[in-house]
Formats: sequence, structure tokens, C-alpha cells
Amino acid sequence: MSAASAFSPQVSLPPELYRQAVEEADLAISITDRHANILYANAAFTRVTGYQPEQVIGHNESMLSHRTTPREVYQELWTRLAAGQPWNGRLLNRRQDGSVYLAEVSITPVHAPDGSVSHYLGMHRDVTTLRQLECMVNNQKQLIASVLDAAPMVFALLDGNGGLMLSNQAYHSMARELSNDNPAHALMDTLCPDWRAQLASDPAHCTFTDQEARLDRPGGAPRWYTCSAQLIRLSNEAVDGFFCAQNAVGLLLTCTDITALRAEQERARTAALKAILADEERVASIRESLSAALFRLEEPMNVIFSAVNLLRRRDPASASMLEDALDASRVHLDALREVIPPRGPETMSNVNLNEILRDVLDIVTPSLLANGVVVDWLPAPTLPTMYGRSVQLRILFKALIDNAIEAMSGKGWARRELTLKTRQRDDCIVITVADRGPGMSPDCELRAFEPFFTTKRGGGRHLGTGLSRAYQVATDHGGYIDLGENPGGGCLVTVEFRLDGDPV
Ligand code: FAD
Repeated sequence: MSAASAFSPQVSLPPELYRQAVEEADLAISITDRHANILYANAAFTRVTGYQPEQVIGHNESMLSHRTTPREVYQELWTRLAAGQPWNGRLLNRRQDGSVYLAEVSITPVHAPDGSVSHYLGMHRDVTTLRQLECMVNNQKQLIASVLDAAPMVFALLDGNGGLMLSNQAYHSMARELSNDNPAHALMDTLCPDWRAQLASDPAHCTFTDQEARLDRPGGAPRWYTCSAQLIRLSNEAVDGFFCAQNAVGLLLTCTDITALRAEQERARTAALKAILADEERVASIRESLSAALFRLEEPMNVIFSAVNLLRRRDPASASMLEDALDASRVHLDALREVIPPRGPETMSNVNLNEILRDVLDIVTPSLLANGVVVDWLPAPTLPTMYGRSVQLRILFKALIDNAIEAMSGKGWARRELTLKTRQRDDCIVITVADRGPGMSPDCELRAFEPFFTTKRGGGRHLGTGLSRAYQVATDHGGYIDLGENPGGGCLVTVEFRLDGDPV
């Protein structure tokens, strides 16, 4: 069936009506012969081109050409028409007054009853303004993209389903650095964990300002960002929303990399912590030295007291003198007891033992490096907080790690590995400190928590109070410390606390 015979209107209209409809159409319409010579042009053709019908009839459509349209465009146009197919495209035209305009042209072959192409129907409209608007939008887009790309901040615009609509260079650098294809999602997961469920139904829930987030990267130091998320009203691009425009919502995430600042703060914090711990340790040593001195002084005084009791019957005068001396000594001992520095008050707070251990590792790093100790740090990925005294807990773990380093720092000792592990077991947090030193003898294990018990000779450096103090801190927190043998050789110290603070 030919294309011409396929044309079968359901209602037969008078031919004059077709002609009038074409004449009055608000689209430049022309009908040409097979060589594009114009046979008919409607009123809109005159309005768009400026040519009166008598000025174009008999002339080729090429009279409209501005002569700047590339030849390939015409070649493509004629290739399609020669194949009997319609062609749509844009051509640069010149009006009768010489002005140029961009024409959106649609050319359809008109078939003769025998199926051959007898004429062409050309329709075009001036889309110069549309093109200018397109360019403006494009330029605007380029401008925004360049400004965003030049900005050191990270920008990511997410649509209502969380899809990435727009992002800048800084965002792509961030993705590369973190080896994460979608760092915007990782940040949202950290700062607003239920954002995926909420974004469509309650987008305001997903907004925040100046929140800090940490993103870990494989094999590298974590990076820190200050992030804000705000809502942006977007025009709905779905065509079914044309008449009942329901605006869509986008979530604009802006982030600034504050890793360097954070590292500086961390250094200052570690230095301050180091100073606090050193001070605590110094005061504790004074306290324990004085307690030890008092303890040791009381022993001979008790002996003297027994001797005085025996002497009282045989030589009351000497006994009385000794009693006076004993009383005077007691007064001095009490005075000494008075000057023992009390334990500093420390308030309880929610503490994360992973952070406490990380702090302690930072503090002992110089000592680890100096002794060539390799650390295997295995924190539980998520560890609930417990209620405790952070400084005291740091002292506890520092004492354990100091002991482990010391155990492995003997001359010629080859195995210098320290493994620190945290995990949650039911309602308890379990921390293990395992070294590859010589380990503890059974006798040493039994007595290690006794105050002033030490196997080390350090010219007064070792009071033997580190473990007893650590034990005291553990029991103050309802926990315990267990000393054992590391299956790989060395000492294995296990510390356990209940999350609710009750005794384990
Ligand atoms: P031309 O020599 O006319 O043609 C350029 C190339 O097209 C040639 O290399 C040739 O291979 C091919 N070609 C030309 N005529 C034919 C043909 N009859 N059969 C097969 N191949 C052919 N052009 C405009 O610039 N603006 C318009 O608004 C416009 N409207 C048109 C409307 C209709 C209905 C038709 C049929 C054509 C229209 N044209 C229009 C195309 C126009 O006819 C010219 O082909 C074009 O302007 C290029 O003209 P030219 O003199 O540079 O080259």
C-alpha cells in the first residue's frame, strides 16, 4: 500500500478547508517540487522570512540559506529525502531583509499515487530565541560548574532518591582519595543514619549545619570534614507534573576538609593528655612512695611499741622515755600522712574504650618507636560506651602497655610485637594486651597486683605500683584484670568491664 493511499480521513473534508487550514497555520509552510522549487508558501512563511509569496514561488528553497550551514547537513537532509523519509533539523536562514535566524525545519516527502515522491512539504519556525535561551542556560551551567570546580569546598547535590545530580572537582578528588565512589552517601550515613528512608518523605529531617564527620580510608589516616546539608527546591522534570507542578527536593551537601586542623587539634589534645597523665602519675608516685615509707616506718615502731610494753615493768623510766619518743614519732607520722596528696576528683562520663586506647597509643608512640615495638591494633568496629573516669582508665592501659614495652625491651630480645584488641562480649567489654616478651612466672602472676611488688631493678624508677594502681582503677569501674600466658609466647593481660558498671 502506498503512503498516498494510506491517507484515509475518517470524515471527508472539503479540499478548500485543508488549504485554508494550511494558509492560516502559525508555522511557515511551503510545498515544493522534487527539486525543492517552491510552489506554495503560506502567510506564516511570509511572517517568518519576510518574503511575499510572489517573491519565492518558482525559486529554490536554497534562497533562504544563509550559506553558513555545513554541506554535510544538506547532504544528510537530501540523503533522507532521497530515501523517501522525512528530515528534521536546524538550518541557518536569511530573511528578506538580510537578518539571520535559526530555523527548526521539518521536511516530509509527499508521495504520488504510484508511490514515488512528487513533492516536499516544508515546515519551519524561528527558534533563534529558544537557541539563545538554550545557550544562556548552557553558559549558566558552565559558569556554575567552573565556580563550583574552583571552590575548595566539596559540593554534592542529591536528588530525592539519593542519586548524585551535581558535584564538583573537589568531590571527585575526595572520592578518589577515599577510594569511595559515593562519599556523599558515606557522609550522610555517618551524620544522619536514617536519611535514605527519610529523604523522600521528610526531607527536612536530613538537614544539618556544620557537623563534623570522619571518613576512614583504606590504608591511610582518616579524613575529617565539616558538613552541612540543606534542601533545594527543584522544578519537577517529569512531564506528568506539567500542569500540577509538584516541586522536587534536592539535598545540597557542602563539606570542608578539616583534616589538617583536626590533626593539629589532636596533637594539642594528645600533648595535653600526656601532661595530665604525667602529672597524675607523678602525684600517684609521691602518694605511693609516702604510703610505702609510712608502711615501712610503722613496722619498726610496732616492734618498739612491743619492746616498751615489756620494758614498762623492768625499767619504767626508760619505758616512759621511749613512750614519749614513740608518741613524738607518731605525731610526725600523722603529719606525714596528712601531706599525702589525695586522689584528684574525676567526674564520670560516657567513655569509648577504643578512643581511650587510641589516645594511650598516641601517648606511648615515642616509647614504642624507641624500643622498636610493632603494634597490632585491632579495635572492635563498633564498641558501646561505658560509664567511667577517662583519665584513670588511660592510666590503667598506659600502665599495661608500659609494662609490655618494658618486658620486650631487654637487650637482644627479638620478638617485639604488641597486640591490642577490643571486643564486646554480651554485656561486657573485653580488652586484651598481648606482648611477646618473656612472660610472667607463676609466682610473679600471683603477686603482681601487690603494692610495691616489682621484679625490676631500676634505681628507684620502679616502685612496683603500676599494676596495683591499674588493678585499683579496674575494680573502681567494676572490672577486673587477669594475667595469663600469651599462646604465642609472652604475657596476655585481659581487662573486662560490664557495660552497666556492675562488678563483673
Ligand atoms: P544545493 O546545490 O542545493 O545542494 C547541496 C547538496 O544537497 C548537494 O551537494 C546535493 O548532493 C544535495 N541535493 C540538492 N538538491 C538535491 C536533490 N533535489 N536531490 C538530491 N540531492 C540534492 N535549505 C535551507 O538552507 N533553508 C531552508 O529553509 C530550506 N528549506 C527546505 C525546504 C524543503 C521542502 C526542501 C525540499 C529543501 C529545503 N532546503 C532548505 C534545502 C535547499 O533546497 C538546499 O538544498 C540547500 O539550501 C542547499 O543549497 P545549496 O545551493 O547550497 O546547495
